[in-house]
Amino acid sequence: MAPEALLNAEERERIRAKSALFDPPAARLADGRRELVGMRREEIAAEMLAIGEKPFRAKQLWHWIYHQGVTDFAAMNTIAKPLQAKLSEQFVIGRPGVTTEQTSSDGTRKWLFNFRDQQQVETVYIPDHDRGALCISTQVGCTLSCTFCHTGTQKLVRNLSVAEIVGQFMAARDSHGEWPTPKGEEGRRLSNIVVMGMGEPLYNYENIAAALTIIMDHEGIALSRRRITLSTSGVVPMMDLCGQELGVNLAVSLHATNDALRNEIVPLNRKYPITELLAACRRYPGASNARRITFEYVMLRGVNDSIAEAHELVRLLADIPAKVNLIPFNPWPGSPYKTSTPEAVRAFAEVLNDAGYSSPIRRPRGRDILAACGQLKTATERAKRA
Ligand code: SAH
Ligand code: SF4
Repeated sequence: MAPEALLNAEERERIRAKSALFDPPAARLADGRRELVGMRREEIAAEMLAIGEKPFRAKQLWHWIYHQGVTDFAAMNTIAKPLQAKLSEQFVIGRPGVTTEQTSSDGTRKWLFNFRDQQQVETVYIPDHDRGALCISTQVGCTLSCTFCHTGTQKLVRNLSVAEIVGQFMAARDSHGEWPTPKGEEGRRLSNIVVMGMGEPLYNYENIAAALTIIMDHEGIALSRRRITLSTSGVVPMMDLCGQELGVNLAVSLHATNDALRNEIVPLNRKYPITELLAACRRYPGASNARRITFEYVMLRGVNDSIAEAHELVRLLADIPAKVNLIPFNPWPGSPYKTSTPEAVRAFAEVLNDAGYSSPIRRPRGRDILAACGQLKTATERAKRA
């Protein structure tokens, strides 16, 4: 095993142990029934054995849950009525509760979902003609505190469970009436997933990994890893695992071109500085010209948006298959920064384009419903601080 991998195992255990502090409540209802959503296939098979049924039932259930999208055992017509009844006594096929669902003037849709312990997260659907990306959350709040991010100011933090992560996608599908799972990947309205909502996904790695594995399963939702992009603020050791085990597209929240500034605005940089972060990007499996790493760069007026910094960025990314996503800063109530001027953003982008980088400027979507990048924070939290 490579020395890196050994180091990763240790670090993984350390992060897992730390992450366990934020574990979600158990997937069991007050009446003792168990949640099937979020269980791995083998777990469902084990549950079937435990109630005296054959393991092949797991395959049937999987089809009904993830291909057909049913939530009621009575709709499962390949399963005899007595067994349907028995299953419904022992299990549920749940969805997060919908506290609110808002649609922006630009078609962006935002849900505030609630879970059994009353905690809430936001999920955003960003349409793009006949397709669209669902931006999912992985934690309630975030343990990190990037200075430009609204989520980072939220005090309460817990990890989302596998069911709560997969449930965001399933509930968004319900809302779009996109069941059963469309054949193939073309023509789906929920065609992509970006793991860019609330929370740092690589600090809830086990659950996000299990959730994405369910979503990628060929006999269910069957979304390919090429249609999934995970964004991290730079949890270096977990980036290696993410590449090896999941192979999804990677987005890295860079936001600064020197450690002094990045230490300030992305405090995780003090632990994993830019050189280490970029080294992890260089060794990210599958990174190639066809599958480039996206570097996210929030444009903060007078802070990180100079031409000199654009040149420095080009220098830093020189040997990485990369594209840069420039995100004009989205303000939130009480935020300490201003959005870069459109001229500054254009000039910055021009330097990148001249150096051969694709550098789309991310159009803010759903600003009127506070659904744009970095604006997510649950309404209860907003109300508390008001
Ligand atoms: N925790 C992960 C994923 C969630 S944040 C991460 O940090 O990458 C998704 C993206 O939105 C990140 O690039 C983040 O830096 C950016 N972002 C956060 N606050 C923002 C704001 N107010 N305006 C624009 N982008 C913001
Ligand atoms: Fe957390 Fe990402 Fe926000 Fe930073 S930008 S506080 S890592 S959600």
